[in-house]
Amino acid sequence: MLNIAIDGPSGSGKSSLARAVAKKLQIIYVDTGALYRTVGLYIKRRGIDPSDTAEVIAALPDLSLSMTYEKGEQHIYLEGQDVGDTIRTPEIAMYASKVSAIPEVRAFLLDTQRSIAEKNSVIMDGRDIGTVILPNANVKIFLTASNEARARRRVAELHEKGIEATYEDILRDMALRDENDRTRAVAPAIPAEDAVFLDNSDLTAEETVTAVLRIIAEKTAEKSEK
Ligand code: C5P
Repeated sequence: MLNIAIDGPSGSGKSSLARAVAKKLQIIYVDTGALYRTVGLYIKRRGIDPSDTAEVIAALPDLSLSMTYEKGEQHIYLEGQDVGDTIRTPEIAMYASKVSAIPEVRAFLLDTQRSIAEKNSVIMDGRDIGTVILPNANVKIFLTASNEARARRRVAELHEKGIEATYEDILRDMALRDENDRTRAVAPAIPAEDAVFLDNSDLTAEETVTAVLRIIAEKTAEKSEK
């Protein structure tokens, strides 16, 4: 079983990278941010303030969430309905960022993430994959890029999905979410000690994939020599 952990801030290109590598290696791509976004969507639908920790925790027992893979694509069901792209808006990203700081929310999603990696070879992206979810991953990569490069990419991605967004708003939201993610008490978004750093500010998506495939090949060869 091959477990690859990709961590890093939003807009660093983790999801396109992980999707491309998964295809190349014929393994499953697990997008963990989508799980936090789905909890965010649920909290919004319930009319709960995501900063009200007690209310969020009280709503968790009624949350019915499941993750499936259909033709290699991840689907998340909330109360039996596929959430699709409804979780991709900047508003839901902010809900996700807030609820993800609550330890009970992280604990709620832990088994879903670990069990898929126990049963399948996966490349999983998120913020705490190398540190908390898959501490024994075969390969850990921490992907970063400058704030400007990340904001530019996020705006393009949203526009492609037909979602309105300005560069200034995204840059500001991103800095705020990064700060929330980095400074939270539980599972802060920091690199694992044994993670390989990759800054892709000046790399194209294809160059990033090539660099990561090289790291994976090196790491897996090293481990089989030991
Ligand atoms: O990666 P994405 O932008 O979809 O993640 C949405 C939010 O979910 C992030 O800002 C972060 O707060 C949270 N998250 C997390 N841990 C993960 C993945 C995402 O806390 N493993």
